[in-house]
Amino acid sequence: MEAEATKVVIAGAGFAGTEAAQALSALVRGRNVQITMVSDRSYHLFTPLLYQVASGLANPYHVIQPVRGWAVRKRIAFLEATVNTVDIQRKAIETDRGVLNYDFLVLCLGTETNDFGIPGVSEKALFLKKLEDGDAIRNRMLRCFEAASLPATPESERRRLLSTVIVGGGSSGVELAGTIADYFGVLDEYYKGIDTDRSTRVSLIEAEGKLVPGRGDSISETCLRVLRRKGVDVRFNAKVASVDADGIRLRDVTIITTDTVVWDRRHKTEQGHCRPVRGWKRKQGRKTGCRQAA
Ligand SMILES: Cc1cc2nc3c(=O)[nH]c(=O)nc-3n(C[C@H](O)[C@H](O)[C@H](O)COP(=O)(O)OP(=O)(O)OC[C@H]3O[C@@H](n4cnc5c(N)ncnc54)[C@H](O)[C@@H]3O)c2cc1C
Repeated sequence: MEAEATKVVIAGAGFAGTEAAQALSALVRGRNVQITMVSDRSYHLFTPLLYQVASGLANPYHVIQPVRGWAVRKRIAFLEATVNTVDIQRKAIETDRGVLNYDFLVLCLGTETNDFGIPGVSEKALFLKKLEDGDAIRNRMLRCFEAASLPATPESERRRLLSTVIVGGGSSGVELAGTIADYFGVLDEYYKGIDTDRSTRVSLIEAEGKLVPGRGDSISETCLRVLRRKGVDVRFNAKVASVDADGIRLRDVTIITTDTVVWDRRHKTEQGHCRPVRGWKRKQGRKTGCRQAA
């Protein structure tokens, strides 16, 4: 009788999970090892292009890759389920579709977006992390254009509706700001009653003194030059105090009225916003290579 297979469970089908699965399946080929991947979505999301979904440049299905077919080819079992708890003593993970036992667990559940405890961010801002976030941003802007195009809409409300604020001048914030400015140019053709040059505004709020912090000065300066050429209002050393129904308030008491705030602040490494799963602590995450920062 054949011995029971060694069970390897990989939780998460993001970059880390698929990379681990790919490497492990090659490593254990021909051995009695069963690899199971469990993830709450059955596709891999290519996050670097998510801003294109948000700004109407790409269809959602252009930035995803279904996991199941790929997993079958690699002889990896796939389970679409949400991991709720890791029970290290029993070597089991509890999911909304039942319990999975493992001999080895690779935990790759990604990170959580950090709102830094700023009032109103989690309730009012839009995020750019999941596929549906890209859709939500584009739909919000379209809804704002529809409302702004109504003849009865007062001018001050029209300006609020046509203003979009992106918080975070990292690479995806810069890409998003630039492509939204272009998108407004495209919408100009469809909303004849709106003068997009005069009435729309895209603001990019960065807490530090340069764009794409962490990259060289010349990249940062080029990004700034291109964004300003597109008419993006870039604000440096601007720290957000709160987000509410009127718009966004900065700590220097500036208020930018808007209906669309996109929160694209990345996770701080030292704060370790590893996705919380019951039974799994930071120390264990670090030991096994669970990502703590994006
Ligand atoms: C808009 C955007 C643009 C980016 N651009 C770049 C870039 O250009 N270059 C770059 O290097 N990095 C970029 N990043 C960062 C990059 O996406 C992350 O570093 C990377 O996704 C981290 O990989 P991961 O596998 O750890 O997590 P993720 O890719 O987030 O994968 C986590 C996986 O776990 C699943 N999951 C989460 N919770 C559960 C649960 N409880 N149960 C079951 N499954 C769960 C998720 O569905 C997902 O499949 C970008 C990120 C974003 C948001």
